Amino acid sequence: MERLLEIKNLKTSFFTHVGEVKAVRGVSFHLDKGEALGIVGESGSGKSITMMSVMRLLADNGKIVDGEIWFNGRDLVKLSENEMQKIRGNEIGMIFQDPMTSLNPVLTIGDQLTEPLLKHKKMPKDKAIERAIEMLRLVGIPSPEKRIKQYPHEFSGGMRQRVMIAMALINEPKLLIADEPTTALDVTIQAQILELMKELKQKINTSIILITHDLGVVADVCNRINVMYGGLIVETGRTTDIFYNPKHPYTWGRLRSVPNPKTLVKERLKPIDGQPPDLLKPPAGCPFAPRCDYAMRVCMTHMPPLFEVGEQHKAACWLNHPDAPKVEAPVGRRHV
Ligand code: SF4
Repeated sequence: MERLLEIKNLKTSFFTHVGEVKAVRGVSFHLDKGEALGIVGESGSGKSITMMSVMRLLADNGKIVDGEIWFNGRDLVKLSENEMQKIRGNEIGMIFQDPMTSLNPVLTIGDQLTEPLLKHKKMPKDKAIERAIEMLRLVGIPSPEKRIKQYPHEFSGGMRQRVMIAMALINEPKLLIADEPTTALDVTIQAQILELMKELKQKINTSIILITHDLGVVADVCNRINVMYGGLIVETGRTTDIFYNPKHPYTWGRLRSVPNPKTLVKERLKPIDGQPPDLLKPPAGCPFAPRCDYAMRVCMTHMPPLFEVGEQHKAACWLNHPDAPKVEAPVGRRHV
């Protein structure tokens, strides 16, 4: 497999009037060409900030304070803003939760779809329109020749998200980053959009990073999953490892909040009690300790390393230390 993205020890902070918020605290992972990776965590886990760091789209008070982001042979941390602009929307496409905030309400869908082709690819206008129609057809928009002349408000939420996907993919980016792409949609449309992403991954061979708070969303689309908590990756593995053989109590908690798609057993849905850590003053030990039913004394004072728990499977939990008490995972072996 050829490597597309390699992130090494990424640290990103926000400098606020009350101090430095360490939002991403040393994250390393990779993505191969044609792969789909899920990044799962709750709000404040660092999942979106990690990917905003990759795109170099941090707020003014945000800064990558350490680490490397190798994309297609170049360290993005070292590129100028001009060079980054060429990469965004060209080599890396991005879709967000709410397409209305990304689509311009006063421009037709056609104008918005053709803009990157005219700007980045210097394509003649008639060819760009042809390509835009072809992309709309690919993402399942009926009558694309007619729809291309319409404005965003004339599309339903699900259709707008399809347009966003078409827009993100029109330049055939090597990487598509999708941040909570289905959260604002109802369950049926959500399933259709995920199915579409799966199909497109095969047809266009774009690598995908899917960021979500919902483990259920990544199950079908992604080959591998990083679970993030408190600005760190706390578990990483193949999708089957994470669902069938999870090794971190936080992952156990997240799995308990995924409905079983076969039986839709809702009574198992259970949120994790407590609050995520304050990253203004990150804890010395395991960031999940105050919410963890299995916390030991060592957890309060020492940060657990990422223990190798299988092939391509690692978990940052002291329970995986050879001398730790043996604990049976309360979840796992679920339908993927
Ligand atoms: Fe729980 Fe300790 Fe494992 Fe952290 S290291 S998840 S506190 S058992």
